[in-house]
Amino acid sequence: MSSQIVASLVLLCYFSHTQISASAPSILADHHEDEDSTIKTMHQFSGYPSSEPNHDSLSSLTLDTQSLQNQIDELATFSDSPPPSVTRVLYTDKDVAARRYIKNLMGLAGLSVREDTIGNIFGRWDGYEPELAAVGTGSHIDAIPYSGKYDGVVGVLGAIEAINVLKKAGFKPKRSLEVIMFTSEEPTRFGISCLGSRLIAGSDTLEKALKNTYDSQNVSFSDAAKSAGYVRDNDDLSGVLLKYGTYSGFVELHIEQGPILEAEGIPIGIVTAIAAPASIKVDFEGEGGHAGAALMPNRNDAGLAAAELALALERHVLESGSIDTVGTVGILDLHPRAVNSIPSKAHVEIDTRDINETRRNIVVEKIHQSAVEIAKKRKVRLSGFEIVNQDPPALADKKVIEAMEASSRELNLDYKLMVSRAYHDSLFMARVSPMGMIFIPCYKGYSHKPEEYAAPKDLANGVKVLALTLAKLSVS
Ligand SMILES: [Zn+2]
Repeated sequence: MSSQIVASLVLLCYFSHTQISASAPSILADHHEDEDSTIKTMHQFSGYPSSEPNHDSLSSLTLDTQSLQNQIDELATFSDSPPPSVTRVLYTDKDVAARRYIKNLMGLAGLSVREDTIGNIFGRWDGYEPELAAVGTGSHIDAIPYSGKYDGVVGVLGAIEAINVLKKAGFKPKRSLEVIMFTSEEPTRFGISCLGSRLIAGSDTLEKALKNTYDSQNVSFSDAAKSAGYVRDNDDLSGVLLKYGTYSGFVELHIEQGPILEAEGIPIGIVTAIAAPASIKVDFEGEGGHAGAALMPNRNDAGLAAAELALALERHVLESGSIDTVGTVGILDLHPRAVNSIPSKAHVEIDTRDINETRRNIVVEKIHQSAVEIAKKRKVRLSGFEIVNQDPPALADKKVIEAMEASSRELNLDYKLMVSRAYHDSLFMARVSPMGMIFIPCYKGYSHKPEEYAAPKDLANGVKVLALTLAKLSVS
């Protein structure tokens, strides 16, 4: 870290305490011990803010990149597939062991650890005004089959390391800082993505659905959770919900999972919005028939209806006028799938995303209208139109963006404002807290495969920006 950062951290301590002593003498008295040690640190570093901090204080601020890398490597060994791949699925033995590893690191960092009913893990560093809403940070550590060791992990281990950095710097948070490890961001086992953060944000539908959710081996969600030590009998999942205002801000550090930062040589991405998908399943049914004998005017070809809908999707997406609106037909199945048979059934699956919910929902509505019109025109039956999910996108909070930008600038790190086109726990945390995300480059944008990689220098930059952002938010 540069001397500017040292000064910055120190000033954060300084100003926060100045404010407190002016406005809340009783609280100050309650935290007299903290106050003393902070003042000591402050004098040590910045009794004379304009002077250069001495070399010892500087080195105490740098983060331990090697030990962070070792932790990432060690966590990757809790895997059900051979290295370099990582497979860590919700509530398996490897997942439980990895959770133990995280709780242990939180403990070593001096955080007080608690877990909720479904295994979201919270490690808290009490601020000197602990009654204020905390600042949250965190991500997930589950890994889809045969994936890599950085997705999510960087945002959990990096967050714990950010706390260590701040502690070593002598920083005292005003608002408590809380590291969160979210349960099951990946949908691998039960088909539900961002399970932990969705429930934190509150979802009655999901709570009910979980009572009837089974994995591919026919193990129920609650049995799986019980085997991992969670969801005891009569546990009410609504206890997982955190109300708006629990956090004054939430920041997630994550690998970009895309190629932009690496290609442009920019070390930090500051996320301004997270796009969210709507997925739709559509089915058409016609008469089918012999590909030679049935004449064109008499046909009702379900395959052509599907093809026409795919083109309609493209048109509707382009009509939005925004580069951020995208739409994909990723599945188009025809029945009976024979070269000399007119398709009697067609199944289409559509994914459309945007960072603007209204715009995305207009596309969904237009797709529905088109499906109805195409079915009528082609005399096929629209036998299914199911919106599988339609999560709202999220915008990052202005105050959090400003804190991330200021932190990057003070660290002399170039940054780029960008949209996250993959979705993350932050999408759901945005429903209960002002939210922001920090991206770091990853090799060729690879993710969800063993080649996933982030360079130690980029990890270190991300953790430093996170640490400084948390510091700023904790005193704001
Ligand atoms: Zn992730």
